[in-house]
Amino acid sequence: TQHFLARIRQHEGLGAFLATNADVSLAQAKAADARLAAGERTPLLGVPLAHKDVFVTRDFVTTAGSKMLENYRSPFDATVVSKLGVTNGAGMVTLGKLNCDEFAMGSGNENSAYKPVQNPWDLSRIPGGSSGGSATAVAARLAPAATGTDTGGSIRQPASMSSLTGIKPTYGRCSRYGMVAFASSLDQAGPMARSALDCALLLSSMAGPDLDRDSTSLDMPATDYATDLIATSAQGTLASGLKGLRIGLPKQFFSSGCAPDVLTAVRAALAELEKLGAVLVEVDLPLTELSIPVYYVIAPAEASSNLSRYDGVRYGHRASAYTDLNDMYKKSRSEGFGDEATRRIMIGTYVLSHGYYDAYYLKAQKIRRLIAEDFQKAFAQCDIIAGPVSPTVAWKIGEKGDDPVANYLADIYTLSSSLAGLPGMSVPAGFGAHGMPVGLQLIGNYFKEAQLLGTAHQFQ
Ligand code: GLN
Repeated sequence: TQHFLARIRQHEGLGAFLATNADVSLAQAKAADARLAAGERTPLLGVPLAHKDVFVTRDFVTTAGSKMLENYRSPFDATVVSKLGVTNGAGMVTLGKLNCDEFAMGSGNENSAYKPVQNPWDLSRIPGGSSGGSATAVAARLAPAATGTDTGGSIRQPASMSSLTGIKPTYGRCSRYGMVAFASSLDQAGPMARSALDCALLLSSMAGPDLDRDSTSLDMPATDYATDLIATSAQGTLASGLKGLRIGLPKQFFSSGCAPDVLTAVRAALAELEKLGAVLVEVDLPLTELSIPVYYVIAPAEASSNLSRYDGVRYGHRASAYTDLNDMYKKSRSEGFGDEATRRIMIGTYVLSHGYYDAYYLKAQKIRRLIAEDFQKAFAQCDIIAGPVSPTVAWKIGEKGDDPVANYLADIYTLSSSLAGLPGMSVPAGFGAHGMPVGLQLIGNYFKEAQLLGTAHQFQ
């Protein structure tokens, strides 16, 4: 813990952390020591980690990257935080809270109300987003692991751009209780770490039902993903473990929309998987392109509803001067929300409004269903779907300027599986243009996290 706290201080300029509290972290480390002294031997006991700042924490301020929640202190810990934590959980020590796009809305961490995050592979570039602080913290070794959230790619894309392994489990696998809500039908928590094995250890502790607090959490017991992985390696199946695994390559993921350097790295990774025994088959996900407009109707719709709770009354920013209640709402919200959050509130309110609901929101929901059905057709032909995570390597900070659509388009390969609620992960696949990391995306059918982690582990 001391080692990582020192590194965090040393590399503050990367912008990865929004809050630290050495006293709290060291006290947690002592508590882990006490459990160790009492004879406990569990794999995560005493291991430090840091949380994306959308998980509420009692001991650290939670801002969700927004001025709206500046200095906000939650009276409770998110379920994922307590499941990993030292009091009643796996025994991990919290190093602090990680920078992210405001309310997790973004693809480059440039929408954080506080500061951008630098990618340690090239300080002039984004680390990916919205879990950009998580990516940089782990990639720069400021933390051994981090939590992230993925609504439309925010674990997989930053993992890919920072050469990390990250997994977004099946929707509902981890409790959303205490995750600052963005788009509730899509939001999902997951780990970001250096390997599939580390992710397996973390996910085993993060996952599991929490039905009293999150009615959408899956009523399925948590799986011990890590023991399975260790068992397969110990049996010496590293070379033969993927024998017969059918990997589906959606032709829409390998089109001209993807940069050639990314495609080259992804194809090289697929060739490795083939050497390990996997069989590559072509599959069809014809609605891939529609996932962008569909997601950017549904996610803002849900966001506009979720963000209505920030009214300056109960918590969050309140304007200092106002004439009446309505003026207080207006000023507090205008001052508290940044441009991207405001844009999504406006789009979301529009597509949900009377007269437009059927044309936009309902239509998007119907296409969402068709996208999910296409995945099931594809899974009739393969076990896992693979492709790129992002069409390009990490771009330069500021390069996309104020163009929101340029950011939205970069989500093309991650949105469809999110809309379908499927698990997906990113595994380092090598390097592309400018020596920047490229990730291989693996998408599994529902509840197939173990298969994804196992495949990634064999590959690593
Ligand atoms: N880039 C997507 C968005 O801006 C996804 C973000 C996320 O997964 N939190 O909404």
